[in-house]
Amino acid sequence: MSETTLSDPFVYAIPMPLRFRGIQQRQGLLFRGEAGWAEWSPFLDYDPPEAARWLQAAREAADHGFPPPLRQSIPVNSTIPATDPATAHRLAREAGCTTAKVKVAEVGQTLADDLARVEAVRDALGPQGRVRIDANGAWTLDQATQALRQLSRFDLEYAEQPCRDVTDLARLRKLSSVRIAADESIRRVEDPYLVKRLEAADIAVLKVQPLGGVLSCLRLAESLGLEVVVSSALETSIGLQAGIALAAALPELPYACGLNTASLLAMDVTADPLVAVNGEIAVRTIQVDPCRMMALRADQASAEAWQARLAQCEQVLGGLDG
Ligand SMILES: [Mg+2]
Repeated sequence: MSETTLSDPFVYAIPMPLRFRGIQQRQGLLFRGEAGWAEWSPFLDYDPPEAARWLQAAREAADHGFPPPLRQSIPVNSTIPATDPATAHRLAREAGCTTAKVKVAEVGQTLADDLARVEAVRDALGPQGRVRIDANGAWTLDQATQALRQLSRFDLEYAEQPCRDVTDLARLRKLSSVRIAADESIRRVEDPYLVKRLEAADIAVLKVQPLGGVLSCLRLAESLGLEVVVSSALETSIGLQAGIALAAALPELPYACGLNTASLLAMDVTADPLVAVNGEIAVRTIQVDPCRMMALRADQASAEAWQARLAQCEQVLGGLDG
C-alpha cells in the first residue's frame, strides 16, 4: 500500500454519515510522490478541465511538498449541514469550535428552516461564538437580501456565496450590512479577479485542490488583496494536510478556517485524523494506515472510472504544459 504512486494509485470510497453537497459517499484517489502523500478528489460531477486543476494541486503535494509554516496550529470552524435544529445544535456543541459555518438555502427547504437552524447554532455557541452561513450561491438577489435581513439578528460573522452571480454579490454587498465572502466566485470561474474589480466581497474563501495548489493559492491571496479563509473540499486527512499547509503559510489568518471536515466522512485513511482539538488543528504530517485504507478501497468499477478520469486530466495538463 505504501508503494502506491500516480501510476498505481489508491482509490477510496468513504460513506458520509450526513448527506452533504448532495452526496452520501466521497470518492477520491491517493498516491505517493517524493515529497509525500497526495490526494486527488474532484467531485464526480466536475469535468476534466476543472478536475485537472485539482490534479495540479495533488502533484504539488506529491512532488514538492509545502512551504514552511508560519504558525503551528490553525483555528477552525465546525461545519453544520442543512439538518434539523436539534441536530445542528448538537453538532455545533460537540465540535468544540467557537466558530460554526451553517449551510443554508438547501433545495427543498425554506428560509424558516434556515432561521431555525442558525438560531439553534447561535444558541449552542452563545453570544461569544462566531456564526457564519454558506448558501453555495443558491439565493437570488432578492432572496439573499431578505434572508440576510432576517438572519442578521443572529449576528453573522459573514455570509458565504449568498448568490451565484458576482454582480449580484456586488449589489447585495451594498444592500446588506452582513459581510460577504466569495467561494464559488473565486474557484469555479474563469476570472477570480472579477470579485475584486466589482468589489463584490470582503473575504475570499480559498480551497487548495480547486485552485491548483498551495503556491497558487498564496499568489492568489496576495493579488486579490482580500482577507482569506481556507476551506477544505471534503477531503481525507491527506487532502486536508494541504489546506492546513496553506493556512499555516498565509501571512495573515484573521478567521477560523473550514478545515475541520474530516468528521463529515465516516472513516479516514489514518489512525490520527486532522480533527480539531479545542477548536484548533495542529500542523503535522499525516501517516496513512494500511488497514484503514484496505477497508476504504473503492470497488473495481469505481477504481477504473477514476483511472480513466485521471488519464483525461493528465491529457488536459499535458496540453497546458505544452
Ligand atoms: Mg462554500
